[in-house]
Amino acid sequence: MIADTVERTASGADSRDLHSVSGPSSADGARNAPSFLSLKNVNKAFGAFTALEGIDLDIQEGEFVCFLGPSGCGKSTLLRIIAGLEQQTAGTISHRDRDISGDSAAARHFGILFQSYALFPNLTVRENVAYGLHNQKLSADVIDRRVKELLQLVELTGSEQKYPRQLSGGQQQRVALARAIAPSPKLLLLDEPLSALDAKVRVYLREKIRELQKQLGLTTIMVTHDQEEALTMADRIVVMNQGRIDQVGAPIEIYKRPSTRFVANFVGKANFIGGNVSGTLIQIAQNTFPTMEGDKLSDGAIDICVRPEHIQLTSPGATSGGTLGRVEKVEFLGSFYRVAVSSDALSKTPIIIDLSAGTQNELSFQVGEAVRMIFSPQHFTYFAAEQNVERG
Ligand code: ATP
Repeated sequence: MIADTVERTASGADSRDLHSVSGPSSADGARNAPSFLSLKNVNKAFGAFTALEGIDLDIQEGEFVCFLGPSGCGKSTLLRIIAGLEQQTAGTISHRDRDISGDSAAARHFGILFQSYALFPNLTVRENVAYGLHNQKLSADVIDRRVKELLQLVELTGSEQKYPRQLSGGQQQRVALARAIAPSPKLLLLDEPLSALDAKVRVYLREKIRELQKQLGLTTIMVTHDQEEALTMADRIVVMNQGRIDQVGAPIEIYKRPSTRFVANFVGKANFIGGNVSGTLIQIAQNTFPTMEGDKLSDGAIDICVRPEHIQLTSPGATSGGTLGRVEKVEFLGSFYRVAVSSDALSKTPIIIDLSAGTQNELSFQVGEAVRMIFSPQHFTYFAAEQNVERG
């Protein structure tokens, strides 16, 4: 009954709120073509430890896909298997319907960029970028032109004769990127390429990589544990959890309609509030909400996930309705405030609410103050009930 509730809710939620979500444009036209890359039931065991289990995934030409998940969930192992640097224990990998599971890394012609730039310290920038081109038996002229073009693309024209030690971390990673794309790889694989860089350089390179990827139409998979990176860069995100895929979708879809509690908690902040369903009504504390069109829920206990920016906060005297609570904490986070409100009627842990700086400046909520929380059912996502949540 519980699984049925959640399953039916997920499909209902899609029809309710996701009609405005646009998928990757490159994938739209390619829906009937064979996938650019297809993984079927990929498994990986290291001795008795299962690192990956039942991985099914299709990637379309030109897509930018992020593997997102916490440390140890198996994202690098999956990328290494795609690269041919690691052999899966079971399952197949196909490129345009051709099984490449047995091909060596070199035979796959994929470009790889790791977190550590791994440039050759004794070679100049020019020689580093040209390195992969020499194996292609190109004339010196062609190599020269290609290197120039690539250095222009990564905005390093003029640094040809410098050595890696004369460059900043961000510049070195741009050289490594130019080197990875120099041989025109079929697929670009990026393993946490930005995590060793400071925040500002990371944001700049994030944009640069995405711009380049679009310009070249280069199908790309990037591993990251940084949700912001995945949300801002990817056409689609693959959220991984303990060796399995929990959800695949466009960033907005993953954020708005997480399909599991893990995804709800890992991508963005999530509040879980206890409620009870009766027919087309949901009771949360003293409030009754109608279910939205498309939400077909089974009667009984349910947990409701609400994002912090979807709860309105007012003074108790300002309106009626809503649910009363008490401010436990007010955190200033630059462009917004994060307020924690306790309410035994809703949850055993404080409800997190994000307020714009303007709202907090105007209403000036203080620790210890009584407040009213107002919910909107169009922002609810439903999950099977757990014991640790209070019911209305
Ligand atoms: P991180 O972000 O920390 O790199 P990850 O999600 O990329 O994490 P993987 O590096 O893919 O995770 O590792 C997945 C699991 O497999 C981990 O528990 C890791 O310890 C294990 N593992 C990876 N490589 C090996 C190996 N060669 N031998 C044994 N276990 C391994």
